[in-house]
Amino acid sequence: MNTPELPEWSRAVVKVGSALVAPDDQGCRTTHLLPIARFITESRRQGKEALLVSSGAVAAGLAEEGRSGPGTGLSIPERQALAALGQPLLMAHWRRLFDVSCAQVLLTYDDLQRRSRFVNAKNTIAELLDRGTLPIVNENDTVATEELQVGDNDNLAAYVAGVAEADLLVICSDVDGLYTADPHDDPDAEHLPEVEAITDEVYDMVGPSHRAVATGGMQTKVEAAEKATDRGIDTVLVNGTKGHHLDALGRGEMPGTLFRRAERPLSARKHWVLHALPTAGRIVVDQGAADALRHEGASLLPSGIVALEGRFARGDAVEVVRRGDGPARVAKGITQYGAADLERIQGRQSHAIAEVLGGAPADYVIHRDDLVLVEE
Ligand code: GLU
Repeated sequence: MNTPELPEWSRAVVKVGSALVAPDDQGCRTTHLLPIARFITESRRQGKEALLVSSGAVAAGLAEEGRSGPGTGLSIPERQALAALGQPLLMAHWRRLFDVSCAQVLLTYDDLQRRSRFVNAKNTIAELLDRGTLPIVNENDTVATEELQVGDNDNLAAYVAGVAEADLLVICSDVDGLYTADPHDDPDAEHLPEVEAITDEVYDMVGPSHRAVATGGMQTKVEAAEKATDRGIDTVLVNGTKGHHLDALGRGEMPGTLFRRAERPLSARKHWVLHALPTAGRIVVDQGAADALRHEGASLLPSGIVALEGRFARGDAVEVVRRGDGPARVAKGITQYGAADLERIQGRQSHAIAEVLGGAPADYVIHRDDLVLVEE
């Protein structure tokens, strides 16, 4: 396979993990960050814009307390306290590497999921870029517990790329890119310079058993690439421990793995439904309904529903699956009816809704505009 070139870009989100910020679990170091900072500075000099998504707050907090080690086995309150302690050090550390002002942006999953907060984050980031500053984003670990957490900065970086309307996501890791198998375990593992579409086959290559090469491991990097490419953002996985790889990227070469942006990206709304909203339950449909959704661009009607899973409410995001053996995910969408009401109208014609429920806010269950088809 020929090595692809880096597609033209004008605004990049660069994600840097703890393994690069604080190698050897010794707190913040500049070893790997200098080439990354050089890439950003050089890109800015060419009139391009960049944002950083940086991990390392917990690692910096640990070092501040004079402790070394990977920070595994910490309780959630401990991690949150250490992140609070380390975050200003992380910012100060990055600031030393740039001649421009660095702005701290701390986000939670909640901020990305709720429309009003999302818009605020978007406006602030746009303003920061307008002012020529370098926004540096991390998860707001102090307030983000389990259900409010994105959890890993790979996925956070993909969300940030969407919020910032970036056209490139660069994930700096400590491997040379995506391999057909774990190169540490399998001598036949082949490096993939380019991935056209993120299919189940790609996920199989990095299955959960894959060694965690950084905080999130390879799986979260592929998830992040899927989120970004679905939104029309080219995504690059590059080895941030190799300075010359970053320099090559700066020259428009492609030293790692390029995940090409989707040819037909999802609209902001559909992307939000598919990737930002939590899945509250499942609606099982018959083959006819599945075909109508997939091939005719139809809305989901109660008549095609055969079963329900979960106690979801009106306005929740649910998965639509086809009845049959094995998982057959058809779509994800926002339901106009909660599970309790749906139980009473499933299998019935739309005109019967009002009669059964004593009112019908909609004659469909999921409107086509609120429905995102997923690959089979
Ligand atoms: N937010 C965490 C930190 O800065 C790291 C999360 C991650 O690396 O995925 O320490």
